[in-house]
Amino acid sequence: MIQPILPGATLGVLGSGQLGRMFAIAARRMGYRVHTLSPDEDTPTGQVADLEIQAPYDDLDAVRRFASGVSVVTFEFENVPAATAQAASEHAPVRPAGRVLHTTQHRIREKTFLQQAGFPLTPFRTVETAEDLEKAVKALGAPAILKTADFGYDGKGQARVESAEEAEAAWTSIGRAPAVLEQFIPFECEVSVVAARGADGACVDWGVIENQHRRHILDVSLAPARINAETAGRAKEIAHSVLEALDVIGVLCVEFFVEPGGRLLINELAPRPHNSGHLTVDASATSQFEQQLRAVCGLPLGSTELLRPAAMANLLGDLWADGEPDWPAALKCPQVKLHLYGKMEPRPGRKMGHMTALAADVETALDVVLHARDAAARVG
Ligand code: AMP
Repeated sequence: MIQPILPGATLGVLGSGQLGRMFAIAARRMGYRVHTLSPDEDTPTGQVADLEIQAPYDDLDAVRRFASGVSVVTFEFENVPAATAQAASEHAPVRPAGRVLHTTQHRIREKTFLQQAGFPLTPFRTVETAEDLEKAVKALGAPAILKTADFGYDGKGQARVESAEEAEAAWTSIGRAPAVLEQFIPFECEVSVVAARGADGACVDWGVIENQHRRHILDVSLAPARINAETAGRAKEIAHSVLEALDVIGVLCVEFFVEPGGRLLINELAPRPHNSGHLTVDASATSQFEQQLRAVCGLPLGSTELLRPAAMANLLGDLWADGEPDWPAALKCPQVKLHLYGKMEPRPGRKMGHMTALAADVETALDVVLHARDAAARVG
């Protein structure tokens, strides 16, 4: 049994985006101090942390100094190099462990792990050479999606392959880097299960969340997902098994495609709180961020009870196209909660914040949150 890390201690976060910000807010509420390290300054996490250290992730001396000043290191950005997690672990426990990052930050390693462990996933082939690509297209057919193995998120490093003839050009468009070719899945819907595993191996989840994407970026999440109980039960079981198989201490999200007929295929894993779990801050007894804290500090996990059906809508930089959005208009809906991440530059596609609405059912929550976002977009 690990010794719990108690309030008053200092927690380290590698990465400095909105996930670290919401973790830091939960940590400070419970009386912890937070240090963050990333290459940037005046960051979403740094603005609410006790200390913001600006250093590249491969500055291992800076990483060691950072880790010596905290009781535990966690992360909000999974593309931290393996050497960084290793250097940090010489001075403080890293939770989840560096090997969880190593597996999940690379699509080929992640999919190979899932396949070898017998989890259902989108059919794929590894592409490292032109010959691999040709064979992969033959095996999987078209349409298909090519995704770079490294550093892909929100549809970046992806190219759709409509026919065998287009495959070469698609690979060139993503830099001919090592990649996976995935069969295109004509899914009925996309869902995720955000789950947490404590230091004692206890596993909890927030139920199944339904996700709608726009331009490959998460747009809206709904809880509970509108899928049947049997499919939901299987999704949760799979998520728990993934956390156990990876021996995660912390929070991990499993994203699924639901095929017509109810078959579940894993799309990808994120070994940290996830955008689809943001609604847990307002809608659940314990948020995904507080749970990350409890797990990495070796504390008992909190209740994941959903207090009311909820809908979350992302606020991308596009909403700022005509100037600052009209927040008073959006907040005219009293059920709406506004979360802004403190980012100064509202670039198109950049996640600037989100809104959550709670209601008696998910359809009403969705109507309300979309109405509020539309109202914010209408600049006077
Ligand atoms: P990813 O970054 O891999 O999660 O992809 C972003 C989004 O693109 C997914 O949430 C889906 O909406 C879509 N997508 C990715 N891969 C596939 C696939 N194999 N079949 C159908 N849609 C996909």
